[in-house]
Amino acid sequence: MNNEITKKQECIFIRNGIEIWVDEDKAVQIKTDLLQGIANNFIKAGNRIINVKEIVGIFNPDDLEDLKRRKNGQWKCSYGRWHNRGENCECHKNKVDIANEKRLREMEEAGDVSEEQRINNLKKLGEFKKDLFGKKKK
Ligand SMILES: [Zn+2]
Repeated sequence: MNNEITKKQECIFIRNGIEIWVDEDKAVQIKTDLLQGIANNFIKAGNRIINVKEIVGIFNPDDLEDLKRRKNGQWKCSYGRWHNRGENCECHKNKVDIANEKRLREMEEAGDVSEEQRINNLKKLGEFKKDLFGKKKK
């Protein structure tokens, strides 16, 4: 859900749950300063001054997404899918599905899927799913 972030950004995650997003270049600089001990009191990020003691970490968007999901009780199975708390992983039943979804995602990320195509693909995937798993029911 980071469509609005075009430039690569990273998040300075503060202890009380505040997220401060900075450009990747700035993040690299802050990380270097922190690790070298140059920034040992406060750092400047945009128009903010941050007490370095309050920084939990500096994350990229994917890390943060993972962090949030885990915080909400979700867990990631060996197929790389997220499940809700208490939910059993049945991904082994949907192996083909996952492969297709992964392919679809890769195509989307590569940018060679139009919106129309995407909807079509999803429809196809749905039909495929029905074919594969619908027959078990009477
Ligand atoms: Zn699973």
